[in-house]
Formats: sequence, structure tokens, C-alpha cells
Amino acid sequence: MEQDHKNGIVVAEDDPVTSLLLVSILKKWGYEPQNVRDGCSALRVLRNSKTPKVVLLDWLMPGMDGIDVVKNIRKNHAELNHYIIMLTSRSNKEDVISALDTGADDFVPKPFDPGELKARIDVGHRLISLNQELIRATQNANRLADFIAHYDQTTGLPNRVSFTEKVEQFIANKGVGTLMLVNIDRFKLINQAKGLDLGDLLLNYFGARLKALFDDNTIVARITADEFGVFIPMEQETDVFSDGVSDFLISQTSLIHTAMHEPFPIDNGISLTVSIGACPVTPDIPGQAEEFMRRADTALGRAKASGGNRTIIHDAQMEREIKERYSIEKDLSSAIGRKELRMFLQAQVDENVLFTGAEALVRWEHPSRGLLSPVIFIPIAEESDLIVKLGNWMLEEVCNLLKKHEGKNFSLSVNISPKQFYRPEFVSEVLNCINRHDITGHRLILEVTEGLLVKDVSEVAVKMQQLSETGIRFSIDDFGTGYSSLSYLTKLPISEIKIDRAFIKDLPGDTQSAAIVDAIVAMAQTLGLKLVAEGVETEDQMHFLSQKGRMFYQGFLFSRPAPAAEILSSWL
Ligand code: C2E
Ligand code: CA
Ligand code: CA
Repeated sequence: MEQDHKNGIVVAEDDPVTSLLLVSILKKWGYEPQNVRDGCSALRVLRNSKTPKVVLLDWLMPGMDGIDVVKNIRKNHAELNHYIIMLTSRSNKEDVISALDTGADDFVPKPFDPGELKARIDVGHRLISLNQELIRATQNANRLADFIAHYDQTTGLPNRVSFTEKVEQFIANKGVGTLMLVNIDRFKLINQAKGLDLGDLLLNYFGARLKALFDDNTIVARITADEFGVFIPMEQETDVFSDGVSDFLISQTSLIHTAMHEPFPIDNGISLTVSIGACPVTPDIPGQAEEFMRRADTALGRAKASGGNRTIIHDAQMEREIKERYSIEKDLSSAIGRKELRMFLQAQVDENVLFTGAEALVRWEHPSRGLLSPVIFIPIAEESDLIVKLGNWMLEEVCNLLKKHEGKNFSLSVNISPKQFYRPEFVSEVLNCINRHDITGHRLILEVTEGLLVKDVSEVAVKMQQLSETGIRFSIDDFGTGYSSLSYLTKLPISEIKIDRAFIKDLPGDTQSAAIVDAIVAMAQTLGLKLVAEGVETEDQMHFLSQKGRMFYQGFLFSRPAPAAEILSSWL
């Protein structure tokens, strides 16, 4: 008999003779049985027993009989796993079946045969042992599953689920702290250049170094591939978040920036830069862990967008911008269908202030916000396919207007976003548009930015060429602000350059602007390109520019953007 079975037997028998006999025989076999004389005591002992027992349970007892004890234990304490052997002189088959049905495990008829009893007790203990082992194995498996569900296999750090849970618990306890998302800059490049194994190794070192920067109260976790979460619980609220941007947060994040700059002992030393989005976690801000994660993520997005290697701390202003952005994006998708877009025109004139054409500029008549500037919604539209719809709508309006004023001598310029231009359907859409309106392309100017041109010169060239054949002209918008690679000017069918307002606004006083304008003018003259000066606001500016050579002008000095009909009726 195994040592831990020694105390593993309970005898519940009201008949003193049988009880005595059982106890003495069990003792002879090395057991130290617990002995009770009625059903209620049996129930109490079994309920309180932490480890599973083999129970010799008499069927008929005063008060509560054996069957009731079994029923009660199985119903209310199924987890106890006692092995219950019924003892009874009622040995007919129906009785045996009914005893087993209520939850007894085995059955020994009275008067009992000691050999049989011993064998059945041994079976009971064996089953109990097996069962215990099974429970332990299941617990281990559960622990493993729990580990896998809560920890990252590569770094051994808690994962996103676990991080969020821990922060959640912390918030529930009204704690304050700071939450940071730390993202490795250009990690993808390292992965691609050096392979996934080295990438994993680097992540491992990175996680360990990050963890080592903080004490044990700080939670450091791996959130996604190259993104780690850090949550620093704080003692008091006041010393941390006086103005939203706290000295504390800045000191902690600069700790991280500095540490990650130190070379990691891989591939002759790799040093990293990180982007960090951080936010204060305070119980007075409504929201749960996910909300704080979102805020830190928003800040991280900004840190990345502004070039990386920096920390941005989330604040209320950012939140307002995000909400505003979201609501604009939501409304914008139905703006076209609800006919809320307007086409404004801004006149362009020659040196004699005679009308030569106009630039089409979109406006949005928002139902509650009023007339919105494209500066607010174009960047949002550019992030989705909305810019394509919007651009096509403008093109449609411009073609429509050109048809309406057929035979007149002015051109219309329309802005084309890179996303629109790079679509495979772009050329056919423009061609369809002019064909549908039964116009030729020679009064239509498409304004594109320098950024678009350098991306894929051969694709750009093919598309521009196809469109040029209809007479459509191309203009480089915001010239001088983008890429300085000018070789495209000779390779592409470009006929016009618009000098960006940035170089006009400080004329004539600013010598640097003047020098840039001189260079642009010289270049345009060499290449035979038409020049348009944007954002001309003063007579002095115009006078200065007019001395440089032939030029066209667009700006508030001549015309503010206004509804198309208004512009055409006053200038034609
Ligand atoms: P942009 O193409 O450079 O357009 C010129 C912008 O400068 C216009 O702003 C115009 O109102 C402004 N402007 C013109 N003259 C002056 C001046 O003398 N002084 C000052 N301070 N500003 C002047 P707007 O209409 O707000 O458009 C802003 C930008 O939005 C445009 O810049 C263009 O990039 C974009 N945009 C406008 N309409 C469309 C469109 O239909 N499609 C696309 N893709 N973008 C558009
Ligand atoms: Ca433009
Ligand atoms: Ca421009």
C-alpha cells in the first residue's frame, strides 16, 4: 500500500459489530481509517476531506442512509472525486444497479469476503491515483495553454492579451500610470535584409533590454511584431500629469531612446531607433485599457508619420483632431451622393490682367459645418478611395463647363491626386470623360505634383503621352517644394510650371525667394514651359515677377476662388 493511501479510507457503518470488524481488518492491512456511525457524519467527513478517499458506505443507516449521502456528495461536491463502495446485505441485482446509478462507484455485499473487499479497495485507490494524475496533467496543460495565450513565445514577455488584462486590472483598482507603445523603426527592413531568425534574435534582445530598464512593477509586453508595450504604475496622480505632458514621461521615454541606440550584439552591432506613443492612464478619464492603448497608438502613429525616432504624447487636441477626422471621413463618403461638393474657380490672368483660364478648386458644403476648405478634407480623402470619386466628380464638372463654353478662349485646370493618377483606369476615365462631353483636350490642364512624377517615371510617361495626344496639357503644381530631380521635366510631356506660393509670398524683399524664382524662370525659359505664379497677393509681387519674363498670375490680387458661375460671369 502506498503511503498516501494510509489515511485514505472512511468507514461509515452504524452496526457496531460490522464497524469494528471493518476497522480492525483495515488496520491489519496498514490503513488508519476514519470511522463514522451515521449518514450525516459521513457526509460531513467527506465534504471536509480535501483529498479523495475510498469510502466504505453502509446502505442502511439511521437518519440519512448511504444512498442519500452518495446523492448529496455527487450533486454538491462532484469535484471531490471520492471512490464510494456501497456495503449492503441487499444484494439483488436491482439494488446494485440503483446504488451505482445514484453515483456509487462499486458495491460489496455483506457479509463481506475480506479478499474481495481488499481487491475492491485497491481498485478504488488505483482509480483515485489515476484520476489525480489526470487532474495534474490537465492543470499542466492548462497552465501551458495559459502561458501560450498570455506570453509571447519569441521574447517570453507577456503578450497583448495579458498586457491589456493587467492594465485593465490596474485601472479597475483606480490606479494611475503611464502607458507607452514602443515601435522599432524600420524593423521590417532588418527582417528583410537579415532574415527572420536574426529578426527574432534582435526582438529577444530588445525585449530583454526594455524590461531591464524598469523595475518589477512595470509591465513590459510584446504587443505585435515589432511593437512593445510598457505600463508604469504610479504612486500619485498629481506629480505625473500636471499638463498632460509630464517631465516624468519624457524622462522615461528618453531612457528608452538612449538604451536602444546602444548597439545590440548581433551582426557586428545593430543599433536601433524607436518611435514611442505615450499616454497618461488616469482613472478620471473614462475608458478601459483598450481606450488607452488606442490613444498611445494614435500618438505612435504621429511619431512614425513625423519620421520616427521620437516620442509623441497623446493629448486632448490630438483627440479632437482624430474625432474630427473620423467624422469628416464618415460624412465625406456620402457628400458626393448628397450633392454637397461645389466647384470653385480661381482666375488666372496674363501680364495685362486679361483672363486666360482658371483653376478648379473643390469646396464642400457641409450640412452642419458650412463651406469647408479642401485643406481639411483632401488629405482625408487621399487616404481612401474617396479621392478618386472626388477627383472624377471635379473632372466631370470641368468638362461640363468647358462644353458649356465651347469656342471660348480659356482653359481650365484641375488637380489630380497621385492616387487617382496611378489607377490603371485613369487614362480611360479621362478619355471617357472628354468624349462623353464631346470636347477636345486642348482646353484642359491636369495639375500634378512633383512627388507623383518621380515615383515611376515610365508609367507616368506612358499615361501622360496617351492623354497628351488629345491635346490635354500637364502642369507641375507647387513647383519647387517637392523633389529636386528635374530630369523628368525633359522626359515627360509637361507644358506648364506653377511656382509655389511659398516663393512668392516674401517677394520682392526676400533675396532667397528671389533667387529661387530666378532659377525657376531661367529653367522654364530654357525648356519652353509656360509659367504660372501662384498666390500673388500684391502689386509689388506682380511687378517684380513681370520683370523676370513672360508669366501668368493666379492669386488673391486678381481673384479669390468663387463659384464657377460667379468667376465666369465677371471675367468673360
Ligand atoms: P493648390 O492646388 O496649390 O491650390 C491653390 C490654393 O492656394 C487654393 O487653396 C487657393 O485658394 C490658394 N490661393 C490662391 N491664391 C492665393 C493667394 O493669393 N493667397 C493665399 N494665401 N492663398 C491663395 P484651396 O482652394 O484651399 O486648395 C488647397 C489645396 O487643396 C489645393 O492647393 C490642392 O492641393 C487641393 N485641392 C483643391 N481642390 C482639389 C481637387 O479638386 N482635387 C485635388 N486632388 N486636390 C484639390
Ligand atoms: Ca493646384
Ligand atoms: Ca499649387
